[in-house]
Amino acid sequence: AIFGNLADKLQAITRKFGGKTRLTEQDIDGMMREIRLALLDADVSIQVVKDFIAEVKTKAHGQDVAESLSPGQQVVKIVRDNLVQVLGGSDNKLHYSSSTLTVIMLYGLQGSGKTSTAAKLALYLKKHGKNPLLCSVDTHRPAAALQLEVLAKSIAVPCFIQPEEKSAQAVARAALAKAAYLMSDVLIVDTAGRQVVDTELMAELQDIDKIVKPTERLLVVDAMLGQEAVKVWQAFDEAVGVSGFIMTKLDGDARGGAALSIHKLSGKDIKFITVGEKVDALQEFHPERLAERILGMGDVLSLIDKVTANIDQEKLKTTMSDLTKNQFTLVTMLAQLEQVKSMGSLKDIVGMLPGVNMAKIDDSKLNDRMIDYNIAIIRSMTMKERLNPSILDASRRKRIASGSGRSVTEINLLIKQYEQTAKLMKQFSLPKMAKHKKAKKA
Ligand code: GDP
Repeated sequence: AIFGNLADKLQAITRKFGGKTRLTEQDIDGMMREIRLALLDADVSIQVVKDFIAEVKTKAHGQDVAESLSPGQQVVKIVRDNLVQVLGGSDNKLHYSSSTLTVIMLYGLQGSGKTSTAAKLALYLKKHGKNPLLCSVDTHRPAAALQLEVLAKSIAVPCFIQPEEKSAQAVARAALAKAAYLMSDVLIVDTAGRQVVDTELMAELQDIDKIVKPTERLLVVDAMLGQEAVKVWQAFDEAVGVSGFIMTKLDGDARGGAALSIHKLSGKDIKFITVGEKVDALQEFHPERLAERILGMGDVLSLIDKVTANIDQEKLKTTMSDLTKNQFTLVTMLAQLEQVKSMGSLKDIVGMLPGVNMAKIDDSKLNDRMIDYNIAIIRSMTMKERLNPSILDASRRKRIASGSGRSVTEINLLIKQYEQTAKLMKQFSLPKMAKHKKAKKA
C-alpha cells in the first residue's frame, strides 16, 4: 500500500460518491468535507487543503465534463485532476549535464533515507544505461560512509569514500578525480545530515557545492514529516538551492502530507519516490499515476475513456430504454454483448478495473471467443425468439445449434444465463436510471 491511511480514506470517499448516479449540492459539500478532513489528518498544509477544496468545489458545481460519466464519476475525475496538480508540475525528470559528468547532490536530515536513496538512485541510473559513481562526503559520521559502501557493493556500483579524512571539501575534490579516472557519467554525492538544520553544516555544503558544481540538488524528504517538510526545504533552499525532491518512505503508514504540500509551497517538483527498504524500491514520479493510486482508481479513468469512445450511442439508448421498461430480452443481451466486444479484449478490460490483480485471474476463463459464440447463437434466432425466449423448446434449440455451429449444451447455458439476468433485472427499481440527467442539474 502507498500513502497508507490517506489512500484508504480517499478511496472510501471516492467509492461512496463515485458510484452515485445523482448528486446534489449537499452531496458535493459532504464529499468535500470528508476529503478536507482526510487531507488535514494526513498533515497536508492547511493552505494547500483550502485551495484544493475551493477549486474542486467550483469545478464540481459548474461541471462541464463528459456527458458520458455519471455525476459521481465526474466529481471523482475533478478530484483526480486537481490532485495531479497538487502533486506536481512538469519538471519531474532528472536533468543531465551537457558536459561529461553530471553531479547529483543529495541533501536531507539525518534519518530521511538519504544514504539508502543514494544507492537506489545509483541502481536506477545503472539500469538506465548510466555509469554512476557513488560517494559520501559525510566526514562527521564515518559509519554513514561505510553504510554507503556496503550498499554500493550489493548493487555492484563503484563507491568512493575516505573515512579517515576530516575535510569534506577534500573528499569532494578526490571524488571528482575518481569519477574522471573511472570515466563515470554521473556522480551521486551523499552529504552529511543532521538532526536539525544547522548553520555550520550549511556552510560546509556551500563549500562542497562550489567544488562539485551539481546539476541537480535534490532534497531527500521523509514523507512522515508532513508539512514540516516545507521548513526543511526553506532552510536548504536558502543555503544551497534545491532543484527538486525525492520523497521517501511512501510505503506503509506514511501520512503523505509532505508529498501533497511541497510542490505547491516550494514551486519545485518531486523527481522520485521510494516505497521500501530494498535497493530497487525507487520509482520515477508521475503525478497522474500517483494520484490515481492514492484514489484507488487503477486505470479506471482510461477505462471510462475507452468505453465512452467505443460505445454505439444509438444501441446504448435502445438498451437503456429496454431496461427502463423492464424488458430485458435476448435483443438487449445481444446489444450488450456487441458493446462489450467493441471495447476490446476482456483481459484488457478486466485488467483496468481497480483492485484487480491479473496475476490472480485465470486467463482461460476470460475467453473472448465466448462472446463471439454467444453473439452467433443469438443471431441464429428469429426476432420472435429473441423477443420472447420462453418459446425456445427443444426442437428450436436444436435448429439454433446447427445454425450457429455450437452445441445444444451451449445454447442451454446461454438461455440459463439470460433467465438469471432477467430475474436480477426485475429486482431493480429501474425507472430511476432514466432520471439521472435531471438530477445532475438539481
Ligand atoms: P539517512 O540517515 O538519511 O542516510 O537514512 P538511511 O538511508 O540510513 O535510512 C534510514 C532508515 O530508513 C533505514 O532503516 C532505511 O532502511 C529506511 N528507509 C529509507 N527509505 C525507505 C523507504 O522508502 N521505505 C521504508 N520503509 N524505509 C526506508
